[in-house]
Amino acid sequence: MELNILTLCYLIASVTFILGLKMLSNPASARKGNLVAAAGMTIAIIGTIFLYESDGQKLHNYGWIFGGLLIGGIVGTLAAKKVKMTAMPEMVSLFNGMGGACAALISAAEFYHIYKLHQDSPGTPFSDIVSVGTYVTIAAGAIIGTISYTGSIIAWGKLNGRVKDFSFKGQHIVNMIVLVLVIIAAVWVYRSNIGDMYIPFLLIGFFALIYGILFVLPIGGADMPVVISLLNSFTGVAAACGGFLYDNKAMLTGGILVGAAGTLLTILMCKAMNRSLTNVLIGSFGAGNKAAGAVAGKSSQGNYKEISLADAAMLMAYANKVMVVPGYGLAVAQAQHTCHELEKILEEKGVEFKYAIHPVAGRMPGHMNVLLAEADVPYEKLLEMEQANDEFKTCDVVLVLGANDVVNPAAKNDPASPIYGMPILEVEQAKTVIVNKRSMKPGYAGIENDLFFQPKTSMLFGDAKKVLQDLCAEVKAV
Ligand code: NDP
Repeated sequence: MELNILTLCYLIASVTFILGLKMLSNPASARKGNLVAAAGMTIAIIGTIFLYESDGQKLHNYGWIFGGLLIGGIVGTLAAKKVKMTAMPEMVSLFNGMGGACAALISAAEFYHIYKLHQDSPGTPFSDIVSVGTYVTIAAGAIIGTISYTGSIIAWGKLNGRVKDFSFKGQHIVNMIVLVLVIIAAVWVYRSNIGDMYIPFLLIGFFALIYGILFVLPIGGADMPVVISLLNSFTGVAAACGGFLYDNKAMLTGGILVGAAGTLLTILMCKAMNRSLTNVLIGSFGAGNKAAGAVAGKSSQGNYKEISLADAAMLMAYANKVMVVPGYGLAVAQAQHTCHELEKILEEKGVEFKYAIHPVAGRMPGHMNVLLAEADVPYEKLLEMEQANDEFKTCDVVLVLGANDVVNPAAKNDPASPIYGMPILEVEQAKTVIVNKRSMKPGYAGIENDLFFQPKTSMLFGDAKKVLQDLCAEVKAV
């Protein structure tokens, strides 16, 4: 009976994960979707703690379980409450890494469990005891989870600027060798006898740790979104392996959903960045020609012109159509509400107002959508990149707010640039381009932006929030 209730708990959890994921696809229902999925996860955890039975025995180590829940709960709550919105992508990356580490530890625990059960027969080959299917699941969970762990830690460091891109000649070959070593160690474990499997199992972990680091270290700035979503899918797959091992339906569904969603996101990000998945998988793109791009950017530098607040306000107030390109700087300034305010003021004056969303603007997939949804910007006003590129030519003014790489024409014109090939928002098609940022410093990819020196472009320097507040006041006065 109790087992049935537990199965029901897992079923409820699986359904809430699916519903939650569906609700996450729309900013209006996303918050609720998160709560629904979290409620399902709570039911699955409580059900497991109190109802799970193995060989007629219930779980008894409640001290460890509740101790872990308490510590994890406190750390997670404090981190989520304290984190600044701009540091959210780093935190997501760090938490993703923790998920990978958990999945790897589950595999390690299961490996130890099998050893304990058969420790009295030291000469027996491991392959006589465990089926290939079970072993592949254990090894895959350990390998993928570990790669996701170290990869996500490096991604976390890169997002907060603590870790710099690093690559060396022949890195692809070294990466491949390390990956082959992981597989050799995994086969070695399976062919070892009980009692002799520890060293090769530790080697699996060691080489997978190294691979996770090597795989993410060389990846150039502008290509990070692809890697982040790929690591996300790794964690999902590793968790699904744990679900297989324990025959835990909730874990399996959750892992598969995260793995599938992450894989789809990776494919979408690859499309957005115009990169092939093969390049991502061998961990090789985006870094090699960074220096060349930076030099090329510098040599193309010219003079830029500035625009006053009053002139910018005048241009926008008398425009028929204004399009805003939000970027990471808008999130840093937390200026989304003020931007929405400007939108309403301009619309009252009869100006058509829209937003052009680049898929990798900001520091996490969907960053700009989330940011603008927070300010209650109607979703219909957000144009995807292709739509926006079709509409720029009908715009009188494009206001670039804290965006840089996503509007950099070097992606189209400069084969030496590290972002060459990445589709961008082609704002230069509009009649006038106004760029708001605080200085002439480059964006995340670390390269100059020719757009700032083009005749149609005027710079409006200052913190995005302050500039938007002043613009609101000026436009009202026109
Ligand atoms: P960028 O990082 O290219 O540029 C942001 C710009 O905002 C900077 O040039 C900065 O200039 C300006 N800025 C910063 N603070 C403020 C402020 N308070 N007010 C006004 N401006 C400000 O951002 P984009 O959104 O254009 O591009 C995103 C980049 O991040 C891409 O290279 C992408 O690949 C990468 N990335 C994206 C991820 C994702 O999943 N979306 C994940 C990881 C990386 P200044 O300092 O002069 O003000």
